[in-house]
Amino acid sequence: MFLLLSLCVYVLLLGGEAQDRAALWRDNDRSGRCHYSFTVPSPAEASCPQIGGPEVEGLKARLTLLEVLVSRLSGGEAMDADAPSQTQSRSQSRSQPGLQEALNQALGERNLLRSEKERLETELEGLQRRLGDMRLEIENLRSRPCPPQSAVPPPSAPLQDSSLLRTAGGSRPMSHLIGRPNNRGDSSSLRDPAWGFGVPGFQELKAEVTEVPAPNGQEDATGCGELLSVGEPVIHRKTDTIAGKYGVWMQDPEAVSTYGPNMVWRIDTVGSDVRQLFGYDDLEQLSKGFPSKVMLLPEAVESTGATLYRGSLYYQRRQSRTILRYDLASESVAARRDLPHAGFHGQFPYSWGGYTDIDLAVDEGGLWAVYSTSKAKGAIVISQLDPHSLQVKRSWETAIRKNSVANSFLICGRLYTVASYTAPNTTVNWVYDTVSGQARAAAIPFRNKFRYNSMIDYNPAQRKLYAWDNFHIVSYDIRLGRRQ
Ligand code: CA
Repeated sequence: MFLLLSLCVYVLLLGGEAQDRAALWRDNDRSGRCHYSFTVPSPAEASCPQIGGPEVEGLKARLTLLEVLVSRLSGGEAMDADAPSQTQSRSQSRSQPGLQEALNQALGERNLLRSEKERLETELEGLQRRLGDMRLEIENLRSRPCPPQSAVPPPSAPLQDSSLLRTAGGSRPMSHLIGRPNNRGDSSSLRDPAWGFGVPGFQELKAEVTEVPAPNGQEDATGCGELLSVGEPVIHRKTDTIAGKYGVWMQDPEAVSTYGPNMVWRIDTVGSDVRQLFGYDDLEQLSKGFPSKVMLLPEAVESTGATLYRGSLYYQRRQSRTILRYDLASESVAARRDLPHAGFHGQFPYSWGGYTDIDLAVDEGGLWAVYSTSKAKGAIVISQLDPHSLQVKRSWETAIRKNSVANSFLICGRLYTVASYTAPNTTVNWVYDTVSGQARAAAIPFRNKFRYNSMIDYNPAQRKLYAWDNFHIVSYDIRLGRRQ
């Protein structure tokens, strides 16, 4: 009996000692739930130092945080409606899509800015190369003796001297300036320093006809005439993101039934993968920024040279000389064709750059492409295209250097070039008539109100010029008639 009693006391003592070393923890987590933790040292791990205490507390705190995060992510916080932290979690969950959207927008704008930076860097490299070439030419010029005086006016001769241009438009295939030999005796080169200097008096003295021109006689009957004046720009919309710094906007001058003649189309061309075509029911909806149609083009658009005609969007495929006809009704590519020998992707752009190598245009006579080729050595080539097959019907090679002008448009079979895309008060400076095959200088005032005009086109139905000037979608009234 005594032995049994002693054994009980010993067991109780052992039990008490074990209880002294066990630990019970209880705490609320952030969601208000009570958590119990009971720890007992293992006899096999009796030598483990510092079990429990702060370490367990730290683990518990981390576990609690993880539980809260899991609960938020899984929406579990909705279980307890009265906890203030739940309200906060819910509002954060609701704000997450907004934050994500803002983040996506910021990332998109960052990417666009990077694309723009790359483009500008490429242009800078090109300009630096040209500068180097010009310096070399200057050195060559300085080392030459002065040419004998001739009937040619000095470089400062005014552009407005159209009589000179008319007399220069004789039967010789190229102007004397183009044919002048360089210091290596090579008369085939077009890299006359006068071109590089951009001296207007040297630029355009003769235009060459490569095809038999179409007969004239339509001017009075159709209301066609020569461009006499361009009005002030009328603003239709200011775009609200960096993607709208430059682009192209259009109305179909010969709309088909699917979309009426009031439909306005727009492509923001900032970025390296431009595919979105926005359609607006009319100009008012464009002004309000409410598109009624958005199409995703199957192949990316290059630059701002696209145009609309008879229910199709015509555009240059990115990094190629391929022209695509995209049928708006079926939303599919209806035709594609390479523009023969056309430079692309920075080979022969307008002075603005931006890969404006191929500019498509529409006038009363149909569909045109304005570009250059290696054979033309940077001079503007005009081709009339079959709007169905995109085949070249006729071509004209001018002597207007493409990178010396800001943009161009065609009205009644005449090509007009604009001198500057940045100068607020510039001019329409050259006119090339595909009927006569001759060019002349002009000085019709033209306003770049926002100093960064990236696209100018003519709409023969509206008899207006459409342009995109530094985030601003604008149009210009024009006046046509017989030149005095
Ligand atoms: Ca144009």
